[in-house]
Amino acid sequence: MSNDSASGRVAFPYADYASGAPDAYRCSQCPAHGVKLWRQYQTCADYIKLLCCDCAVHDQVVRSSIEPGTVVGDDGKIDFCGMRSDQIGWLVPAVPCEDDDTYWGYTSVPQAGVEWWKRLPTRSAKQ
Ligand SMILES: [Zn+2]
Repeated sequence: MSNDSASGRVAFPYADYASGAPDAYRCSQCPAHGVKLWRQYQTCADYIKLLCCDCAVHDQVVRSSIEPGTVVGDDGKIDFCGMRSDQIGWLVPAVPCEDDDTYWGYTSVPQAGVEWWKRLPTRSAKQ
C-alpha cells in the first residue's frame, strides 16, 4: 500500500448518513458542492472524479453516451430508453462509505446510503 499522506491525495468524502454532504464531496469541474454527485462506474476510488448533474450530463454527451439536451430532474434522474434512470450514461450515483475510503458499488449501496443521496439537493439553490 502506498502512503496516502505522501501522495497528495485529496481528502476522501466520508459520509455521515445522518447529515448532509461532507466538505470533500464536491464537483471536480465546477464549484458545486452539497449536491448529488455522480462518479465513473468502474474506476479505482483513488482516480474517481465526482461530477454534479450538469457536469455529468456534459461529460456524457461529449462521450455520446446520452442524447444532447438530456436534463436531470429534481429527482436526480434522467429519461433514458423510456425509463427514469439515476445513471447518467456511464456515471452512477456517488455514495461514499461511512467508514472506508471508497464508494459503494452501484448495486450494493445500503438503504441508508441511498436515502442520504436522495436527500441531497440535485442542484445548488444559488445560481
Ligand atoms: Zn459541476
